[in-house]
Amino acid sequence: MAEQVVFHPDILCIPEGGEKPYLIAYKCSCGSAWFPKLPFCPNCWSDKLEPMPLSRTGKLYTYTIVAIPQPGLQAPLAYGFVNFPEGVSVCAQIDVQGDLETIQKALHIDMDVEVAAGVIRKDKDGNETISYRFKPI
Ligand SMILES: [Zn+2]
Repeated sequence: MAEQVVFHPDILCIPEGGEKPYLIAYKCSCGSAWFPKLPFCPNCWSDKLEPMPLSRTGKLYTYTIVAIPQPGLQAPLAYGFVNFPEGVSVCAQIDVQGDLETIQKALHIDMDVEVAAGVIRKDKDGNETISYRFKPI
């Protein structure tokens, strides 16, 4: 029977009780922040990285629309890099449905997006993988 699996709960928090999901970056004592979690800070080589919740919204830095996806994904779909106020940039699917033209009209650089949780793909057994995506606001 197909199930739902949360991909990397260490970087995506889906609160119970209906609160909106948010991402978790990792902050070093040198002031650098990284996403996803790294074994050490590329800036100062420290391995003392602490979890840091990111804002629930960010700005779309750039995006692309995929016409021929890898198996388990349905096209067309959009991916984008989103800049968060904490200085972290995160890439993920953008939650826009429709044909190519609809997606193109719905997205523009520097628009506000929020973190959302949803099905990003199905694995080879048909299980739905839940992870973070971005939703235009
Ligand atoms: Zn550091």
